[in-house]
Amino acid sequence: MGNPLRVRRPIAELAAKGQVIEIAEKIGNFERLAGIVEADLGALDSDKIPPDWRESLVTGRLEFGFADAQQQVASLVGEVAVTVDAVCQRCLEPFRLPLASELRLLPTAEEQGASTGAGFELWELDDDRVCPADIVEEALIMAMPLSAMHDTAVACREYEPAGGEAERTVRPFAALKNRMDQDT
Ligand SMILES: [Zn+2]
Repeated sequence: MGNPLRVRRPIAELAAKGQVIEIAEKIGNFERLAGIVEADLGALDSDKIPPDWRESLVTGRLEFGFADAQQQVASLVGEVAVTVDAVCQRCLEPFRLPLASELRLLPTAEEQGASTGAGFELWELDDDRVCPADIVEEALIMAMPLSAMHDTAVACREYEPAGGEAERTVRPFAALKNRMDQDT
């Protein structure tokens, strides 16, 4: 029967079965996602690349069902997460970047789709079948920041460069404060 995460099956069948999929797979098994991480780490000197980056576990849960009482509109709810190795765009050092995504999807091949009520998002399929792993991978890729960076000064040695990022961040408040001082 194979791994339910990797088998391409009709969305109507998954929904009717109420298929639940628990996920715990190495990121190395997700080709596109791993490709993006690998390209990012390629910016590092080879001795700085974390040797076990492919081992990071993608975890989560998917649950297929219906979004409507008439059982016409297939839905997929769940969550997926992984902590990847990434390169900080500020200091160019590797760090661990957590990615997570909550899914509330209406997978459909119909152009018009159903109305997206109750906080669901349409998820376009090429045909009436779906490979759950593709959705997991796509959701995590979309959760990636445009520019990955350490989020604290402690971790990042370039966090507060003189005249750099820190000053830019502070300036609006400084300007506001100056104006308030003049007003009083
Ligand atoms: Zn950094």
